[in-house]
Amino acid sequence: MKNLVSFLFAVVLFFSCNAQNPIVSKQNENTNKPKLVVGIVVDQMRYDYLNRFYSKYGEGGFKRMMNEGFNCKNNHFNYVPTYTAPGHASVYTGTTPKYHGIIGNDWYDKEIKKMVYCAGDDSVQSVGAETEDGHMSPHRMKTTTFADENRLFTQMRGKTIGISIKDRGAILPAGHNANAAYWFYGKDKGLFISSTFYMNNLPNWVNDFNKSDKATSYLKPWNTLYNIETYTESGSDLNDFEGGFKGKETATFPYDLKVLKDQNGGFDILKATPYGNAIVADFAIAALRGEQLGQDDTTDVLTVSFSSTDYVGHNFGVNSKEIEDTYIRLDKDLERFFKALDEKVGKGNYTVFLTADHAAIDVPSYLQSVKIPAGYIDTKAQKNMLNDFMKTKFGATDLIENVSNNQVFLNRAKLKELNLDLETVQKAIVNEIINYDHIDKAYTAATMGATSFTTGIETLLQKGYNQKRSGDVLYVFDPAYISYSKTGSTHGSSLNYDTHVPLLFFGKGIKHGQTLRKTEITDIAPTMSALLGTSFPSGAIGQPLEFVLN
Ligand code: ZN
Ligand code: ZN
Ligand code: ZN
Repeated sequence: MKNLVSFLFAVVLFFSCNAQNPIVSKQNENTNKPKLVVGIVVDQMRYDYLNRFYSKYGEGGFKRMMNEGFNCKNNHFNYVPTYTAPGHASVYTGTTPKYHGIIGNDWYDKEIKKMVYCAGDDSVQSVGAETEDGHMSPHRMKTTTFADENRLFTQMRGKTIGISIKDRGAILPAGHNANAAYWFYGKDKGLFISSTFYMNNLPNWVNDFNKSDKATSYLKPWNTLYNIETYTESGSDLNDFEGGFKGKETATFPYDLKVLKDQNGGFDILKATPYGNAIVADFAIAALRGEQLGQDDTTDVLTVSFSSTDYVGHNFGVNSKEIEDTYIRLDKDLERFFKALDEKVGKGNYTVFLTADHAAIDVPSYLQSVKIPAGYIDTKAQKNMLNDFMKTKFGATDLIENVSNNQVFLNRAKLKELNLDLETVQKAIVNEIINYDHIDKAYTAATMGATSFTTGIETLLQKGYNQKRSGDVLYVFDPAYISYSKTGSTHGSSLNYDTHVPLLFFGKGIKHGQTLRKTEITDIAPTMSALLGTSFPSGAIGQPLEFVLN
């Protein structure tokens, strides 16, 4: 009898608890949010760097993310062009240039008929230095970032701060209603600056940081962190595939930055060394305290973009000792940064993701040397051939207004004047340029508008195509063919060497695990929105990665 009573009691207790569960879980949803979300973009990071340099990494940086968090090993960009500005915009908006409108770093503006810069904005002024480098804002980005949605959701109580060496790497991730974006101004200054889009004066903590002269302390010799003989994961230091610095004959270690600085843009030389990443880490750590990030229950967002990896890759190539050393040192900077987060925000109180804005190709001249089809395109010669063709075919010299980012822009007024049909001219160009050496594919804007592609390169082209901003003809080079110098790496294509990038999550609300399932760059922002329980960014097309979230 006694047992029956306690059994019934247990049953009643069980059901009454369950009845309360919806309330309990609702409360949990709010208290389970991280105090801080940190988004990290490593500019030009290839997925294979995680594995190639694995044995050189310490326990507290990349490996900590892999060992404690979730590793999406088959993560790709799902549009072209794979450039920095579209990359940063897509990570944080969860959509592609088709919707967010950032179709390149620079592009030809059809309305005002000149090239524009993705973040250029002459309606705002520089803050922190007398320069035009601060005339910047996110005004050309058409949709919101997950940080924007977090600001709206929290009635602007949740802060957003964006930090990078590159202005676009700070501005686009932070979004439209960020509290601040800060980027590095080199030349003879070596400061972090901002624009009047965000504020009229730098806050005290930024002034203090700038006064501390950190940048000068990094003007020192750059040698390999460990004995160069142990760098067995990269090519020889001296080879034909690297650029190097002005004032030094060979692209070989060590580089004395104090000596080289005057011939290489003053403090701008730091951008193209691992110390550019180090000073960004220093500044991000200073921002934790300066902006009081992650100190209450309203989630803040900090976006950090490490750009020096991109400069080093462009200069020395993805197979260089310089790149290996840059990643070994970035790993140390990440470790430092995560330790600061543990101390200031608290282990388990913050969530981090790390990805890239694009990857990069091996230097084509190196690929040629190991018999892989690769090479260089003379775009100037092709442009001249196309102009000659237009002259012969349509009898006009100025029908083509601009060629940029693998797109041809036609002069609409001239077409009208000559009574030429737009689609006919687009098609004629496609049929002409497809005959040019190493142009692999070409499509008209009309095709992009009328067809719904679902697989392959055409899908990536379509997702990068913005009806309002893109050109009349889009074309694609042969795999591993680039329009670039014969030294150093670049990026921009729809091929795996440019699209395959790391995606690591760790911290609050993140499971431990890994997947080879294909994920896309546009999934990151919706995943963060799902973690925070907010609305998704306005143009987001990605899917929240449910298997990553607890
Ligand atoms: Zn980039
Ligand atoms: Zn070298
Ligand atoms: Zn780049």
